[in-house]
Amino acid sequence: MTAPDEIAIKKLTLKLKAYVLEKFKEANIDYCLTCGMCASGCPATGLEGLDPRKFLRLLALGQDDELLSTNWIYACTICGRCKHACPMGIDVGRIVYLLRGLRPLEDRPKSLQKSCELQKTSCSTGISNEDFVWVVNDVLEETCQNEPDWAELKAPIDKKGAEYYLNQNAKEPTVEPEEMVPLWKILHTVGIDWTYSSKWWDGANYCMFTGDAKDWEYTLRKQVETIEELCCRYYINTE
Ligand code: SF4
Ligand code: SF4
Repeated sequence: MTAPDEIAIKKLTLKLKAYVLEKFKEANIDYCLTCGMCASGCPATGLEGLDPRKFLRLLALGQDDELLSTNWIYACTICGRCKHACPMGIDVGRIVYLLRGLRPLEDRPKSLQKSCELQKTSCSTGISNEDFVWVVNDVLEETCQNEPDWAELKAPIDKKGAEYYLNQNAKEPTVEPEEMVPLWKILHTVGIDWTYSSKWWDGANYCMFTGDAKDWEYTLRKQVETIEELCCRYYINTE
């Protein structure tokens, strides 16, 4: 488990702006015009009592305690619409990401943190690699048997040299396995040579949502190593 930098957090009282500018030199916090363009298009405006314009003002004015405790940082989807709309090019989503990484582990949304911890073992919902392989094969067999038009459908796993590598949102094999089938049918119809992997197959990366860059990089590198071992040329990321 990677703990946030506790010492950095303690030193942060009234210094959050300096911290953000150290990590993100182009943050342009002082260039904010308070025009509200960001807030007008933000899907998180009004949730948890904040919006991106207010968020920027709190940061610029040193209201660190409020910023370090607001749950609005988890309402923000880091979608980037505010940056696109902002005349000063301010990237609120990236600043939100930095603040998420400072939140002590015990104060983070529990489901998000748990998914990140599980992700580092391969799968964010906690099902084993063996279960994933079993579920894929079981759903495939059932589909081929029950749908004559798809009797030749394939769902390859660990097919070395396949042109495309496909990852999978872990929620589907865990709770709604039939939802995997439509994509298999599309790939079959267009004649794509593809494969899953039996390890590091989960395409989600919850460590990105918790703001843990090291853990995010760790799981991403594991996924890339897997693709390279299989010698796939293209990576289809469904997330
Ligand atoms: S759009 Fe940019 S300049 Fe306008 S309020 Fe938002 S962050 Fe500030
Ligand atoms: S990145 Fe966050 S603040 Fe910006 S528009 Fe998206 S949800 Fe709103």
